[in-house]
Amino acid sequence: MTSYNLLILPGDGIGPEVAGEVEKLVAWFSNRGTVRFEVEKDLVGGAAYDASGLPITDETMQRALSADAVLFGAVGGPKWDGVAYDVRPEAGLLRLRKDLGLFANLRPAICYPALAEASALKREYVDGLNLVIVRELTGGVYFGEPKEVVTLENGEKRAVDTQIYTTHEIERIARVAFELARRRQGRVASAEKRNVMKTGVLWHQVVSEVHKDYPDVALEHILADNCGMQLVRNPKQFDVIVTDNLFGDLLSDVAAMLTGSLGMLPSASLGAEDLVTGKRRALYEPVHGSAPDIAGQGLANPLAMIGSFAMALRYSFGLVQEADLVEKAVANVLAAGVRTKDIAAPGAPTVGTAEVGDAVIREL
Ligand code: ATP
Ligand code: MG
Repeated sequence: MTSYNLLILPGDGIGPEVAGEVEKLVAWFSNRGTVRFEVEKDLVGGAAYDASGLPITDETMQRALSADAVLFGAVGGPKWDGVAYDVRPEAGLLRLRKDLGLFANLRPAICYPALAEASALKREYVDGLNLVIVRELTGGVYFGEPKEVVTLENGEKRAVDTQIYTTHEIERIARVAFELARRRQGRVASAEKRNVMKTGVLWHQVVSEVHKDYPDVALEHILADNCGMQLVRNPKQFDVIVTDNLFGDLLSDVAAMLTGSLGMLPSASLGAEDLVTGKRRALYEPVHGSAPDIAGQGLANPLAMIGSFAMALRYSFGLVQEADLVEKAVANVLAAGVRTKDIAAPGAPTVGTAEVGDAVIREL
């Protein structure tokens, strides 16, 4: 039987609490005897800093590089506010992203019928919504040089950011989007602003070129501003949206509000394929942070973390049936009215982190 190597990095705040519920799921699958996981756990963020003075050690990084997938909780919190910039908890995640070469960020926006009331839109617009935004993560205006504020001779200041994309960077993110669409509804919308940006012109050209390798996938080019409008006007028209780092940041936050709650959103970050093993490096994490305000109280919603684990099952392990099973169980738990406080209607009864995890396992 194939064995899948999963590295769990729970981190800080509610990270360990929500990661604990995934460990229960892993145990459930292992007891069932059809899949075998080899799970390792390690420190990251403030927890790692407290133990070693670093937000991630070289040994942990080695483990991450050799794992089939990394499941990351959340890092940071007020306890580490005074820590030096280079070793702050967040630097642990940044190193993971960099050393794993994670260039593609996948953020699904799924609106569960049971939670449609919490959406920023009316139920009829979001009930059944299921789209994924594929955001380029390592290029564009976030990293382009020059990036500076200069004082001019007349005393005025001028700020510069530089948007840069190469053919290679666009091609590899486009392939991720087309491959993903193939396993979904077969539709990609590529969002840029070729009407005002040269990077948009190249983006449009390269995505069209890559599309020739995916004739079974429908491609639509859309201006990024129009894409934002369409997300609010009629989000169900989309399957996969591929876009650059900056537009992806904005569009994925808009999409998040269509689904209702931060505690519900999983994400995946994919990297290059390992030259030796051919496996794609990947890190899965909930979109939410360490939520210091509710940490340690057993109140956190574990569904974003459980959804991130389901994405690992699907994309890193190829365990499509198991991923479907987990996602179906989550939908059923919500339909049965099980709610942590963040997704409950005012005054409605709520349960804690462990009860949600237990309810998911009962559904499985
Ligand atoms: P970061 O900078 O680490 O992303 P943040 O400031 O964006 O952190 P979060 O830590 O995500 O914020 O928390 C924002 C709010 O959402 C907090 O009030 C927190 O309690 C709540 N929240 C976040 N995640 C969850 C969750 N899984 N369950 C319940 N509430 C949550
Ligand atoms: Mg945040």
